[in-house]
Amino acid sequence: MLVLTLYSGIERTINSLVLDHFMRRKIDIDKTLKAAANHCQNQGKRLTQQRQQILSLILSVDTPMTAYQLLDLLKTNDLPNAQPPTIYRALEFFSDSGLIHRIEANNTYIACDHIQCSHAHQPTQFLLCDQCGSVAETTLKPEQLTAMEESAKQYGFLINDRSLELHGVCHDCQESNQHQ
Ligand SMILES: [Zn+2]
Ligand SMILES: [Zn+2]
Repeated sequence: MLVLTLYSGIERTINSLVLDHFMRRKIDIDKTLKAAANHCQNQGKRLTQQRQQILSLILSVDTPMTAYQLLDLLKTNDLPNAQPPTIYRALEFFSDSGLIHRIEANNTYIACDHIQCSHAHQPTQFLLCDQCGSVAETTLKPEQLTAMEESAKQYGFLINDRSLELHGVCHDCQESNQHQ
């Protein structure tokens, strides 16, 4: 059983059957939730108790999850009667507030790595491991952005979204492949 500490400070156990194949994130969930609440407040929005519960689930797993996987997690933990709109509305709120990212390649969601940062969010390069499903969020360098913009400009193209999703094999999977 994994123990998840929610914002309220109450420790709850998460159904290990649901979570056992997800790695635990090495972050302080309480601290991140507080930062998320501040972040929302600065935007004139409110991170309600229910949204905190959903966000803490997203923060507790290291692998991007689909809306339905999140719904299942939510049902086995905090809200047995949760319905799809509950999760969809929350995901939209988190995306709009910059707290999570949607991975287009497989329509999954992952918490932003920079919730506790005060700097503006930079264009991102996501490194997607096709073997274990992990995602790393890395920041694009200014020279990469310039190169992207210049090559698009040659086609008279204006870029709106500068996020990239790169597929491959993560460091951990490469190591374990070698030891097989
Ligand atoms: Zn981010
Ligand atoms: Zn991997």
